[in-house]
Amino acid sequence: RVRARGLQKSFGDNHVLHGIDLDVAAGTTSVLIGPSGSGKTTILRSLNVLERPDSGTIRIDDVEVDFATLPDKGGSARQQIAALRAQSGMVFQAHNLFPHKTVIQNVIEGPVQVQKRPLEQAVDEAKALLDQVGLSDKADQYPFQLSGGQQQRVGIARALALKPRVMLFDEPTSALDPELVGEVLSVIKELAAEGWTTVLVTHEIRFAEHVADQVLFLDEGVVVERGPSAQVIGDPREERTQQFLKRIL
Ligand code: ATP
Repeated sequence: RVRARGLQKSFGDNHVLHGIDLDVAAGTTSVLIGPSGSGKTTILRSLNVLERPDSGTIRIDDVEVDFATLPDKGGSARQQIAALRAQSGMVFQAHNLFPHKTVIQNVIEGPVQVQKRPLEQAVDEAKALLDQVGLSDKADQYPFQLSGGQQQRVGIARALALKPRVMLFDEPTSALDPELVGEVLSVIKELAAEGWTTVLVTHEIRFAEHVADQVLFLDEGVVVERGPSAQVIGDPREERTQQFLKRIL
């Protein structure tokens, strides 16, 4: 369902992605692990076209963009980027909820404003999503009245509300106090179990091991090793993977 080929990205002189290939089958969860600066977030942001790769292709379901031939600007480029972006829902490190809107207003914002869906339908769906992330009693609260873990769960509901094909999680627990990490991870685990196609960047290696169908270990902008978690985390072949895991486990 997700297929990336040969993704290259530089920020100035800093060559961050050196030809990344990624395949995520429908209904499976892939987890990107690796040292700080290895390019994990840049891959995820490329899938959502928050960063524009210099070259390579990304396909999510039936929408494909070839970044080598994509015009720098103009209507066609904008359209292609918007079409690809609409295929995925992104959950960020720190939630970026609208502070002056209630929880439910945050969740319906995208469906109503961007997707032009009927308000009543969006509200019904938002309530169901808030129920799913365990926040049905918080619908009318404002973000500042919630804990960090609850805010992240609203962020997840908000991404789900757009009915994306793929959910992208960029270190969704790294800004949380340790006692709030579990509640967010358990929502992600449930979504994975429900069959959401998911790509997750995390430093929670034990969780990655548990939830991933596929783990990719990145270092310096290349995929060093990929495979089932039992192999990549449980019994890594590559020395760089072994050293990384030894340092953090
Ligand atoms: P971490 O685990 O610390 O989040 P990461 O593996 O996700 O790291 P990236 O955030 O993808 O790594 O960063 C890869 C490299 O790209 C780093 O050297 C970083 O400084 C650089 N980089 C990322 N985004 C930008 C940007 N917008 N402008 C300039 N450099 C950037």
